[in-house]
Amino acid sequence: MESKIKGFMDLVKQRNQNEPEFLQAVQEVAETVIPYIASKEIYNGKNILLRMVEPERVLMFRVPWIDDTGEIVVNRGFRIEMNSAIGPYKGGLRFHPSVNLSILKFLAFEQVFKNALTTLPMGGGKGGADFDPKGKSDREIMRFCQSFMSELFRHIGPNTDIPAGDIGVGGREIGYLFGMYKKLRNEFTGVLTGKGMSWGGSLIRPEATGYGTVYFAQSMLETKGDTLKGKTVAVSGSGNVAQYACEKAFQMGAKVVTLSDSSGFIYDEDGIDAEKLAYVMELKNEKRARISEYLTKYPSAKFFKSQRPWSVKCDVAMPCATQNEVSTEEAKTLLKNGCIAISEGANMPSEPGAIEAFQEAKILYAPGKASNAGGVATSGLEMSQNSLRIVWTREEVDERLQRIMSKIHNSCIKYGKQDDGYIDYVRGANIAGFVKVADAMLAQGVV
Ligand code: NAP
Repeated sequence: MESKIKGFMDLVKQRNQNEPEFLQAVQEVAETVIPYIASKEIYNGKNILLRMVEPERVLMFRVPWIDDTGEIVVNRGFRIEMNSAIGPYKGGLRFHPSVNLSILKFLAFEQVFKNALTTLPMGGGKGGADFDPKGKSDREIMRFCQSFMSELFRHIGPNTDIPAGDIGVGGREIGYLFGMYKKLRNEFTGVLTGKGMSWGGSLIRPEATGYGTVYFAQSMLETKGDTLKGKTVAVSGSGNVAQYACEKAFQMGAKVVTLSDSSGFIYDEDGIDAEKLAYVMELKNEKRARISEYLTKYPSAKFFKSQRPWSVKCDVAMPCATQNEVSTEEAKTLLKNGCIAISEGANMPSEPGAIEAFQEAKILYAPGKASNAGGVATSGLEMSQNSLRIVWTREEVDERLQRIMSKIHNSCIKYGKQDDGYIDYVRGANIAGFVKVADAMLAQGVV
């Protein structure tokens, strides 16, 4: 089996040189899915995984715009339309200077599995630009979004490809992108999700990824007869996912002691409560400030410059910032400090060595494609509401989100439970996602 996996990976590496994040994501899937394919007559010998690692379409385009000083700036825009076997392409847009083909292809590939897990009819895609929104004025953001959409609009549509937010793309950016799409197409449709409530958005969509990550952590703990109540939780990031993971965690009785951004992390031993979180939201969402400013209002907290929060003693860790933000060493520190569960809010935040360490220690470990699927699931619910031209209540959406997260957890158990009772959530998520997409691909022929 090892030579089969190696042979497959050699081919993928040869075709995708200089794409380390994409190869990392494919390797993790190959290790769990190739043995499964070999054991199933219907999938064997059909090169399905080889077809799945090749995007259906990759778009790269120039995004020229004019900054506030009158300078012409040129960024690079992307959309990866990865797989549409079970529905139109669906996945976020990321605006961050690190964005490149490798990062977006890894995100698009993971998205295919994640979207399949939600049980909703959504294919996988991802896009974005190497644009840094930090320090830009509102008008610069608007001009950039308009230029970006002036090309992207040709390739997307409510039945073709429905982008959403991701790092650097929140409600403000979705508004500018939607406005430009509507102007160019002269139609008001659900082409983007994460929209404002007065123009087609869904209640709970902003909260969904973070809430879902916490619901998933709770489901994992329940398999051990445990709950989040009374647990100490370390969260990284302080953006959309981190904020709402923090909120739901303390609502469920846990104590969240850390948040971070790219400048470092804050440690608040007393726990971050609703009032403190409201201050974080003001800092990050309105003032666009650094997390270190938390200390100006709460001086008893500590700030650790240029560090990540994984040295802190916690029962549960929720990485909610970015890819590869938990190293093997940091994973070992978490384990040494007694951490019993990891629920990933970010995409691929744990390095392969870290995942190995968590699984070897047999703690509860959920990969982002399962635990953070609540965001895209609720985007799917936003699409349904747009199509039906109705608005569900907060309670209705939250209830559906909880049901979906619970179904994802069950799928992971179905395919990931081992003979000794340990649940391998990586294997479970990969195989469950694969089966759904592969069945659709087989039914639709070689296209
Ligand atoms: P966001 O609102 O832009 O927040 C991102 C947070 O992560 C910020 O605190 C940011 O700090 C930090 N961060 C980003 N890049 C970093 C880096 N290279 N090193 C250290 N910190 C970094 O984005 P988000 O929507 O919360 O997304 C966070 C993660 O969740 C991403 O992996 C994303 O793919 C994943 N995700 C998001 C959704 C969603 O619905 N939004 C759904 C599924 C998965 P700075 O402010 O200093 O940059």
